[in-house]
Amino acid sequence: MANEIEKGALYVVATPIGNLSDITERAKKVLAEVDFIAAEDTRVSGLLLSRFDIKKSIVNYFEHNKKAAGERIISDLLSGKSCALVTDAGTPAISDPGTELCESARQSGIKVIPVPGACAAICALCATGFDSRRFVFEGFLPQDSEKEEVLTSLVNERRTVIFYEAPHRLKKTLADLFSALGDRKLCLCRELTKINEEFVITTLSEAIKTYEEKDPRGEYVLVLGGKAETEEVFWQKLSVKEHVDFYIDKGLSKMDAIKACAKDRGVAKNSIYKEML
Ligand code: SAM
Repeated sequence: MANEIEKGALYVVATPIGNLSDITERAKKVLAEVDFIAAEDTRVSGLLLSRFDIKKSIVNYFEHNKKAAGERIISDLLSGKSCALVTDAGTPAISDPGTELCESARQSGIKVIPVPGACAAICALCATGFDSRRFVFEGFLPQDSEKEEVLTSLVNERRTVIFYEAPHRLKKTLADLFSALGDRKLCLCRELTKINEEFVITTLSEAIKTYEEKDPRGEYVLVLGGKAETEEVFWQKLSVKEHVDFYIDKGLSKMDAIKACAKDRGVAKNSIYKEML
């Protein structure tokens, strides 16, 4: 692929997650040559650009102005201008703004071009030594009623699961994961690509103990081992009714609890209904 900037194209540009040397040659070229940059935080991206001596007009594009700002950006792209989308760190649209802009651009016939680079999830996973053939990216665990649903969906997950978490919510998230999934192998991946980078291979229960004595500091990716093949499934000793009640106690409606129970047991919903009668 030629490296010339295309008119009217939206570039999705990954930026470093700590170590500024992780910016790619191509990212620098795109940032220097597009007509304008759309940034999650103009101040943060302004600092990055000045580090590379790039002077460019920057517009804001973030979670709470994405509709209006998105429409303006699309209109500029349609008029033939090229734009680079960046976020504060890492890859746009990965637990960051960008998805809706890419979707609108594609719907408007605008070319969307990724410029790959750092992404905390992949940076963490690749160095944990955990099974990376198949994995699930959950991003931030929801804080609302959806949380229970997500946790329940992970109870029998055999693939490695990756979460993002802010330090002030880490303790709560570890406790929620432990109470929903039981003990699991865990890698706490902290301050990736920075001076205090740290990988701690532990378990959920040990990590909970560790943070009883100290407060989490810095940015974290949690890489959780999937459920072991030989692990006894939690519902093995439960009757069908107890199994359905388990999900109801977790906040699911009776219908959803029956569905979840049927899924665990690999049987049709109807057979669970019949047993419940
Ligand atoms: N789009 C970004 C990416 O590609 O990784 C993620 C942005 S998300 C808003 C921020 C979260 O990513 C942080 O709360 C943390 O969980 C994770 N993260 C970002 N940089 C990190 C780093 N240097 N070390 C560990 N985790 C990091």
